[in-house]
Amino acid sequence: MVIGNLERLSDVEKLSAHVTRLLGQNPGLMTLQGTNSYLLQPPSNPHAPLILIDTSSPHTATQYIDLLMTHLHHLALESGTRETHFESAYAQASLKNLPEDKVDEVKASIVENRSKDPRHTEIELLEYGPGSGWKSTYTKERKLPNIDHIILTHRHLDHVGALPLLLKTLKEKGCNIPKIWKLPSPDEEQLALNEKDRPTSDAEIWNSLPKGTYHSFSPFQPFHPIIPGLMISIIDPVYKHLLRHDKDGRPKWNEVPEIARVSLRCLKTPGHTQDSISLVMLEGEKGVFTGDTVLGSGTTHFSDLASYMTSLRTLLALKPNVLYPAHGPHIAKAEKAKAHLQNYITHRQQREDEILSILQKSAEGNDGKTVVDTIIEMKIQLHQKLEEENDAKGPLMFDRRKPKKLSDNPFEDERKALEKAEQDGSRPAKALPLSVLVRILYKSEDEKLLTAAGKNVVAHLVKLEQEGKVRKLTGKWCKLIAGTVGEKLEDIEVWEYIGEKEHMKVE
Ligand SMILES: [Zn+2]
Repeated sequence: MVIGNLERLSDVEKLSAHVTRLLGQNPGLMTLQGTNSYLLQPPSNPHAPLILIDTSSPHTATQYIDLLMTHLHHLALESGTRETHFESAYAQASLKNLPEDKVDEVKASIVENRSKDPRHTEIELLEYGPGSGWKSTYTKERKLPNIDHIILTHRHLDHVGALPLLLKTLKEKGCNIPKIWKLPSPDEEQLALNEKDRPTSDAEIWNSLPKGTYHSFSPFQPFHPIIPGLMISIIDPVYKHLLRHDKDGRPKWNEVPEIARVSLRCLKTPGHTQDSISLVMLEGEKGVFTGDTVLGSGTTHFSDLASYMTSLRTLLALKPNVLYPAHGPHIAKAEKAKAHLQNYITHRQQREDEILSILQKSAEGNDGKTVVDTIIEMKIQLHQKLEEENDAKGPLMFDRRKPKKLSDNPFEDERKALEKAEQDGSRPAKALPLSVLVRILYKSEDEKLLTAAGKNVVAHLVKLEQEGKVRKLTGKWCKLIAGTVGEKLEDIEVWEYIGEKEHMKVE
């Protein structure tokens, strides 16, 4: 399933020696092609333990976990840990076709052939070697490589929602139980108070996890807490003997070859949410996993713009060679990653300048135009744009949105309703409500787009207010929804430009 014009991504794709991307099977307006969940493993051994970054949404957990388990089976087969070969329904059915007294002989010859195979590994020899008997050393845990660590980049449900089913499934398949890592939400209390945010609070996510399916940090704290600078590592067990420790007992990872390890350094990158982190991989291409802080295409949402901008600058300063975002394609090559991050920064700066300029113009009288004039003007422009698009499609087009020809006095009813609101309401004349501001900014009346964009505009306004450039007031005015003007007057927040000078005086 592809949404709009997005580039098509494969369900499972090996992006580099250490990194494989699995799509969360949850494409959508906000999730783009779906959540990217990343599996990291030392390339030396397909049976080495793995690190998993993020999962998928609750409603797509089944499909996502099917995909993940299939991939783990592939890794197990690749590694030569092939008990599954005899255990699978297919193998059982094949063996049934043999005369009973030949079954062991055939199995033995398969095992022998495999041990002669130049690709066989030590693991294989241990389990299949002459005299060891493949059946007796068979252990369920050996069947699939283990996911040792699950790291959550932040609290949102399209990242944590598949976790309960995943943990249950891993346990059922006989895999070792993993540790779950997350930055404790700094705004946990606020999240718990807000009905919409509550399911994403740490406490609620903990409650959703089946007991005994993960390594708890403590009886009161199931998640292993991420602290900035923390390193989470995996080492191929075959190379474990190379790992030495310094005199303080810290592992000297550098002495183990890069192909036999994978390690991530945790960074705090708040802004999208307060608990957002990024992860820097220390091996191979030294890529950075950005969570929702940076996406593969388009812009992201943020709750706190000031800290969001700092986080973007932190990522830029890291000079990443590859960006692995939580949605959309990865960005390979250092120049592209740098340009991508810089675009994010300039885009936000431009938005901020635009918002400020619209409010400033309004404060200075907007060239004699009233708010009503501005809204009606925008409606006419939108209408004309739609007509032009339809003309370009030609006469055979089938489009329900084909607008009626504009009259000499277009949008008369809307104009009257708006003027009435202006007269009866008590809105400070030069201040603009969010509904007007987003319409002018995005030149649209698509309610979905405006609601989503509005959240980011509010974050901009809050930052500008903190900087003393704008002021929030309240007044009475009408609601604007999807091209219609509400008849009732309601209490609304409006924003007013106060400019740099006044700001200096206030201080
Ligand atoms: Zn998110």
